[in-house]
Amino acid sequence: MQTQKPQKIDLTAEYPCPCGRRGQIAPITLTEAFGCNRCQQIFVVEESGYVLEQLSTNYPYKKIWHWTGCHWQRAHTGLREHYLPVVLAIVLGPPVVWLMLALRSASVSNIILWTFVAVLLMLLPAFMVWLAYRR
Ligand SMILES: [Zn+2]
Repeated sequence: MQTQKPQKIDLTAEYPCPCGRRGQIAPITLTEAFGCNRCQQIFVVEESGYVLEQLSTNYPYKKIWHWTGCHWQRAHTGLREHYLPVVLAIVLGPPVVWLMLALRSASVSNIILWTFVAVLLMLLPAFMVWLAYRR
């Protein structure tokens, strides 16, 4: 049970679905993909047969699993999991410094300043979404 070593996924076998709804994923003929009879999700086999990835367009991260021989183990994609906080720091850093400098000089018009801040706050989520869906 505790052998967490990933095993090669057999493209001719049936497996329980990682969705957890007691579905079965069965191979789809002539493809390297599996289909679930419960959640209707499509899963593709990648990385020479050791990784199962859910085909999903509305999720910013890849959902992948390893087969341990008796169950699916959720795998983390590493870099992408830590990607957004890093980007956030890079994106937010310079404007914050600029803002503090601007607030120190009393001659700056408050209207221009707060307009800039508002635009920035509106653009930021759009930028984050764009980054998440870029690949
Ligand atoms: Zn399923």
